[in-house]
Amino acid sequence: MSLTNGVRENPSRIVDRYLSRYDIDPNLGQNFLTDPSPIHKSIRAACDLGLGNDSHVLEIGPGPGVLTIELLRLGTKVTAIEISPDACDFLESEFNYEHFNIFNEDALKSQWPTDITHIVANIPYSISSPILERIQDYHQLNPLEGVSLLVQREFAHRMVMKSIPKDRGPLGIALWLDFESTIISDVPSSSFRPQPDVTSSIVTLRPVSRTELQDVSRKLIRRISTWCFGKRRRKIRTSLRDLPRRVLKIGKWSPDDWLQILDNLEKQGGELQGFMDKRPEELTPEQWTSICRVISS
Ligand code: SAH
Repeated sequence: MSLTNGVRENPSRIVDRYLSRYDIDPNLGQNFLTDPSPIHKSIRAACDLGLGNDSHVLEIGPGPGVLTIELLRLGTKVTAIEISPDACDFLESEFNYEHFNIFNEDALKSQWPTDITHIVANIPYSISSPILERIQDYHQLNPLEGVSLLVQREFAHRMVMKSIPKDRGPLGIALWLDFESTIISDVPSSSFRPQPDVTSSIVTLRPVSRTELQDVSRKLIRRISTWCFGKRRRKIRTSLRDLPRRVLKIGKWSPDDWLQILDNLEKQGGELQGFMDKRPEELTPEQWTSICRVISS
């Protein structure tokens, strides 16, 4: 797939043109990419996840459309959801492509088309978490081929659980259930206008199907790990003895059932031996899965 078809326009010229007509809306977390390098890296990363001219990309928060134009050049169908009426106005006047649809909506609330294959987005970092949750929920119903996102660097580290134990937590564990998350590259604040205060990273999500999850409730893994990480300094035993109500509901367990489950967990040998004495950040996602398999058995 070529990224060099047609006459290229420097992204900072597109952003100049946008800013000659509209103002930045700081309430919408608008930091536009003006550096071609991260734009091409994001799209190349999506191409490595199978993006091609028969794909249907959802772009969230296209702004002036510096990523959008490159996606359209690939010949792929693009649906863009953008909350700013100014940006929608601009995109409609700039990009007249047959396979391009733009919706002036809040991507956290609006319906997404059901035949999306890829998601590409540089979105405000304040909505990274809820957008990721939506992406993961969407993927359960309509399997995606790949996702390429720009997020704040520290958030990227937590997504991929880069440094152990610091970056281990509910975010990385939840993503692990469905995806292999990879940091493609860091993006300095000088790549944006206006410049954000933080460094960013391009992260991709490649769907995986994990055989170890076959007979385990994903909801249980998410709830148990989130519960225990809520009390990071405590041992797993102490957190679980606290009768996590949201967890009990999943298996319709009574408090007595739950105490029995915990006793059973204490007796486990093998790789789970002694894990009740650990803190949540010491466990791998595979170990959380094994715990939850014992709990649900
Ligand atoms: N992707 C563009 C713009 C990044 S700025 C680029 O890389 O240059 C983030 C964009 O997300 C802005 O255009 C902002 O208006 C839009 N946005 C913010 N909140 C949104 C939401 N809830 N739904 C859809 N778009 C949103």
